[in-house]
Amino acid sequence: MSDQSDGGRPLATRFLTYYALGYLVLIGLMGLFVDRAMRRALADEMEQRLEATARLASDNLPAEGSDLQAWATWVFQSTGLRITLIETGGVVLADSHSDPAVMESHATRPEVLEALQGETGVSRRVSVSTGFEQIYLALPPEEGVITRVSQPTRTVEAELGEVRISVLVVAALVGLLGMAVVAFLARRLAGPIEELTNQSVMAAGGSPEVSPRRSSVRELDQLGLAISDLARDLSRRLAESEEASETLEVVLGALPQGTILVDRDDQVIYANPSAYGLLGAVPDQLQGLSPFQFQGAVRGARETREPIVRVVDHGNPLRRLRAVATPFSEDERVLLVVVDITERERVDAIRRDFVANASHELKTPVSTIIASAEALQIAIGRGDSSMESFARQIEDSARQLDRMVGDLLDLSRLERENPEMARVRLDQVINDEVQRIAQVVADKRISVDVDAPPLTVAANHRDLATAVRNLLENAARYTDEAGRITVTARAGDGEAVLTVEDTGEGIPSRDLDRVFERFYRVDSARARATGGTGLGLAIVKHVAESHGGSVAVESELGVGSRFTVRLPLADSGEGSSPS
Ligand code: ADP
Repeated sequence: MSDQSDGGRPLATRFLTYYALGYLVLIGLMGLFVDRAMRRALADEMEQRLEATARLASDNLPAEGSDLQAWATWVFQSTGLRITLIETGGVVLADSHSDPAVMESHATRPEVLEALQGETGVSRRVSVSTGFEQIYLALPPEEGVITRVSQPTRTVEAELGEVRISVLVVAALVGLLGMAVVAFLARRLAGPIEELTNQSVMAAGGSPEVSPRRSSVRELDQLGLAISDLARDLSRRLAESEEASETLEVVLGALPQGTILVDRDDQVIYANPSAYGLLGAVPDQLQGLSPFQFQGAVRGARETREPIVRVVDHGNPLRRLRAVATPFSEDERVLLVVVDITERERVDAIRRDFVANASHELKTPVSTIIASAEALQIAIGRGDSSMESFARQIEDSARQLDRMVGDLLDLSRLERENPEMARVRLDQVINDEVQRIAQVVADKRISVDVDAPPLTVAANHRDLATAVRNLLENAARYTDEAGRITVTARAGDGEAVLTVEDTGEGIPSRDLDRVFERFYRVDSARARATGGTGLGLAIVKHVAESHGGSVAVESELGVGSRFTVRLPLADSGEGSSPS
């Protein structure tokens, strides 16, 4: 039983109290009514008896000259009623209880006055002679004599008293019997009700198997069935809502966005793991939330009933966080969703820079082509010998443009596609690409040493070839005449290690970190003059990373550079591919 029920009285006590109160009121009212009715009935009966006795006495008055007083005494002894004979003038002739000689005139007695009117006079009052309340009845005069009989009213009271006692005894017995019946019924009801209460408590606790025992009371049985249905329904709903809340928990837990729910009292009622990850800590109260700008967003959304967006730099290392505070339509709760847009903004910036750089890079050869073409036209007009040189400039710029467009296409293809992996012989790729630069290195009298035993890597053949080609072209481009390029490939620790080393000009240490950036060149003019696009190493890095590997550079100015690419080895089985 719950605490709430402790204050109430048990059913039996309540039933008995109501029953007792009701019964007492009923019996009291009935008693009053019956008492009055009985009193009237007894008084009527007494009057009738008095009248009958008076008539009998009046009809049998003794002959004139007889001892009236003795006759009156005899009547009293025979009937138990006081009798008085009165002259029409009021003089008392005889009285069974007093001496007529000492009795005053009865002419003014109410019953006598009525009798003198020719009616049967009745009066009730305290007798002067006896001192008790009496009821008097006087008959109209017969031969000048009024016959009056009387009786003390206490006779009626005595009879009434006896009846009252009997009635009280019966009422008490009936009352007790009634209480016993009520107590019995209350107990019969209390048991099943208690059972139903226990079953309801079980139902409220979510138990689906609630089946109250049948009682002998139809209404209680119906209530029991209703509780069983309710329990099943409640348990099903509980299970559904638990499942829904678990699903929600899993979904919110898996979301990369930080999700925080704030109630109308600025209490944080939910925060998913990402919210902790992004903000470092989530307090119980909104006023502790950092960055504080998000507090304003929540309050603003609640006030304006409109979503509010805030972008804030926060934390160490600094992250760029974008928060949207959305008010709930039905109450004053607010949902704050926080997203880390650092990476997105960085990528956007890189993309913007890339477009700007690419346009700029493309414009240079295009401008040269236009200028050279104009100069060529003039030279042709003049029949100038510089025609050949302008034509060569146009060709060089067009080739530069071609290389640039080629590299850009390579880069965009690499970014767009997920490379299809296969087992690729790295040593063969190296040898093929070395063959491609054979002419260039031969022209510069650069020797190329290849040390690559058979080695199979998990790679996309085309991408790997592009990367190796770019490294070899760079080595050839930035190595002076009679230099040397050494290419090695080794297997070790689950990966293939490819190195391309040259005895070229080397890279200043401050530029080492940046040479893999798009369009970054140590010496732009020289790079361009030698046919560089500034995209070669960016392509190499992209290929290495998209294959699950890496690229690094070591270099010493004036001594040479060494580029090292690490790639996962192919599994010994067929069709392996790294993730
Ligand atoms: P580019 O097409 O201009 O060579 P890359 O992205 O391939 O562009 O290289 C970026 C820059 O790195 C080059 O401009 C050059 O300055 C430097 N670099 C690349 N490879 C070498 C190398 N083997 N020796 C010296 N410098 C190099």
